[in-house]
Amino acid sequence: MTMKPRRASKLPYGRQWIDEDDIHAVVEVLKGDWITQGPAIARFEQTVADHVGARYAVAFCNGTAALHGACFAAGIGPGDEVITSPITFLASSNCVLYMGGKPVFADIDSRTYNIDPDQIASRITSRTKAIIAVDFAGQPAEMDRIGELARKHGLMVIQDAAHSLGARFAGRNVGTLADMTMFSFHPVKHVTTGEGGIIVTDREDLRDKLLLFRNHGMTRDPRLLQRQDGPWYYEMQALGFNYRMTDIQAALGASQMRKLDRFVARRRVIAARYSEAFAEIDGLVVPWQHPQAESSWHLYVLRWTHGRNQAFEALHQLNIGVNVHYIPIYKQPYYRDLGYQDRQCPEAEIFYDTAMSLPLFPAMTDEDVEDVVQAVCHVAKLSQ
Ligand SMILES: *Cc1c(COP(=O)(O)O)cnc(C)c1O
Repeated sequence: MTMKPRRASKLPYGRQWIDEDDIHAVVEVLKGDWITQGPAIARFEQTVADHVGARYAVAFCNGTAALHGACFAAGIGPGDEVITSPITFLASSNCVLYMGGKPVFADIDSRTYNIDPDQIASRITSRTKAIIAVDFAGQPAEMDRIGELARKHGLMVIQDAAHSLGARFAGRNVGTLADMTMFSFHPVKHVTTGEGGIIVTDREDLRDKLLLFRNHGMTRDPRLLQRQDGPWYYEMQALGFNYRMTDIQAALGASQMRKLDRFVARRRVIAARYSEAFAEIDGLVVPWQHPQAESSWHLYVLRWTHGRNQAFEALHQLNIGVNVHYIPIYKQPYYRDLGYQDRQCPEAEIFYDTAMSLPLFPAMTDEDVEDVVQAVCHVAKLSQ
């Protein structure tokens, strides 16, 4: 079927919102003494830590590097198993592979699309060291039940909150619900630094390890040095990386953080409009929200009980840039070659065959939103 688009250009599923004050903040750094390793980094870290209510924050050059740092700080190594969701971006499990550990996939809950705590429980072995919970689409995972499992079995909890900056669970901010929580500042995420990521934690020992890992495994901190040769002295205590964020990025991030609440509020309005428009349409399933969760709506995932692929094509013809998040990670050729079984998580498989992410970002106009509503309603009727 061919259809005529109402829109002259394609609406993406996500994109950044940059104002003059963001540009000004970056230019100020460019005119100053420090474009990297300067004071803007600590200011940005403090801003994020304060916003979520965590004690410490350590910024990284991207969210993937931050997850790598979290796995290092958690002490993941060869022989260790780490349980995570298959319905997430590759970085959530690749970070375990980077450390020589083994990602173990636990199936998702059919309603929240987040990792199912009962499935986690069934995959815990004597080798399990950590759980990486992913807040899919911005809805926090069931952190209460996940925390209980972790305490019972002595596991570390890392929360991949790339989708959920500004979200809450059981009245508590994401960023205070796990041993370490990662946020990403890629342009499609809630606020951006171009590329960037951060780990927030309340634990000083983890903060120290993250700082070490971000900077070649090097330290000059007198608390941590094994000896002291003089004022020039530094020690390499682990094999780290150069995973530092620049002051240019940090200044952009601090400026963007001032708009986070507004951005999240706008995302919630758009999501509510979509759910209102699609709730009663046959063949469409709108996102279900856990009663304890207050999502910050990184993605709006609509499910099509049938005909998702044709609907995807039709919506692109109408210049609605829908997407599919995600392909279950174990299906990737690299993971298959490592010995992961295809179709190992039945709910993840059903989800993958039926899910579609609609455009959702705060800079969408009301007209953009109505274009999506009309196009989806039109395509859904054709597929009856
Ligand atoms: C974006 C994202 C990441 C990685 O973030 P980058 O900053 O792009 O490296 C990790 N996990 C999830 C779920 C993401 O969406």
